[in-house]
Amino acid sequence: MLYCPKCQLLIDSDADRCAACGSKKLREPGPDDPVLLLTTDETNTTMIRSVFQENGIVFVEQDSGFGSPPSILLGSRPFYGNRNIFVAFRDLDTAKELLNGIGIADAQDAKLESGSPAPEEEPEPEEEPMSSRKRFFWRIVSAMMFILIVWGVVAAADFLANALKAFFTKGGF
Ligand SMILES: [Zn+2]
Repeated sequence: MLYCPKCQLLIDSDADRCAACGSKKLREPGPDDPVLLLTTDETNTTMIRSVFQENGIVFVEQDSGFGSPPSILLGSRPFYGNRNIFVAFRDLDTAKELLNGIGIADAQDAKLESGSPAPEEEPEPEEEPMSSRKRFFWRIVSAMMFILIVWGVVAAADFLANALKAFFTKGGF
């Protein structure tokens, strides 16, 4: 693992230059080197702040220059821009564990999460040959049901008419 002192980023040992600034002045990270842990919003920063303070993790916060409004416009209102959180290299693993503990993934996962959401729309399942056969079956069944119902109504009406006729003939009013 290499370290870019300029960006305070950890770089894969395979890479010969910093992924962020392109600097080749990389060195082994020392235990006190500040390392960018993640960039996150103010809500997460508040949680991180308290959990790190509870666990004695020394950290540095820095406004993420990207997309933060000018401070003049901001006035005394709370800052809602993104913040970079740095921890000492020796605390990096502990810090990441703490982040996982409070449900904040590390920088890489956070990027994935905030990016385009996972595709939830599944493509319409292809219609199986069975389903059209089934539909045909049900069409036949419902047609037969309809005929049965009509027949039933007719038969019932017929029965009723006969019963009434019988009643009136027997009653002999
Ligand atoms: Zn760099």
